[in-house]
Amino acid sequence: EFKKSRPKALLRDKLLITLFFETSTRTRSSFEVAAKRLGASMVHLDPSKSSTTKGESLDDTFANLCAMEPDGVIIRHGFNATPQKLANKGLTPVINAGAGNYAHPTQALLDYFTIVEQFGDVRGKTIAIVGDIVSSRVASSGIRLFHRMGMRVILVAPKPFMPDNELEKVEHLDEIIDQVDVVMSLRAQLERHKAPIFEDYEEYAKEYCITKERFGDRDILLLHPGPVMRNIDISDEMLEDPRCKVLEQVRNGVFVRMAILKAILLDN
Ligand code: ASP
Repeated sequence: EFKKSRPKALLRDKLLITLFFETSTRTRSSFEVAAKRLGASMVHLDPSKSSTTKGESLDDTFANLCAMEPDGVIIRHGFNATPQKLANKGLTPVINAGAGNYAHPTQALLDYFTIVEQFGDVRGKTIAIVGDIVSSRVASSGIRLFHRMGMRVILVAPKPFMPDNELEKVEHLDEIIDQVDVVMSLRAQLERHKAPIFEDYEEYAKEYCITKERFGDRDILLLHPGPVMRNIDISDEMLEDPRCKVLEQVRNGVFVRMAILKAILLDN
């Protein structure tokens, strides 16, 4: 509905605080645009300039923010459990904007929305997730959601990027490309690697970069959560291809986050 027509200022009296302990380009601005489109106000706390740097604990920082009576806190943190732990305090609604390598639920929802927009009924459709799956919270949340919605998920990665689980796995996309409806490409999460995994990402790209040669003229939807490492994750040429929905994902992210804010702040 929000995508079809510009909504009214449904959240005019609401105020949200963002608390991002890791960098963000799309997610934070997408939440802000979504909130403002619905008339809500936003306050951003930058932890690198807050009392966290003076030794205040996260729990105390959070309690102090909640004392100001926001209508919700949107948090990104490097630890998998942080958003849930803060939500369990019951002080204010907590929206997870990315937690460690475990969860990025709003990204999963916008990815799913983009797939549904293309296919309608997604049950039985196959998605291949390609790249650094083991360190990716986008993959973690996506896998849980896509399965739940009846999709087949195939993981495609070199061994060091492959998680240890029961899912279908292959090492090369070419092995299964004729079976897939959607490819989700992922960036190597260099900031989460304790030691460099590959010395030469150009070598890695020879196998894993999504190129026109690799896709051929197959009718496959190409997704990536961003930031895209050009010519390592996806080739320049493929980023311009109509099958590539990277910017449509960003566009849809605003509508999906509007729906999430409405559901949490108004309908709850
Ligand atoms: N932006 C996404 C995230 O925060 C994906 C990425 O950084 O590669 O997880």
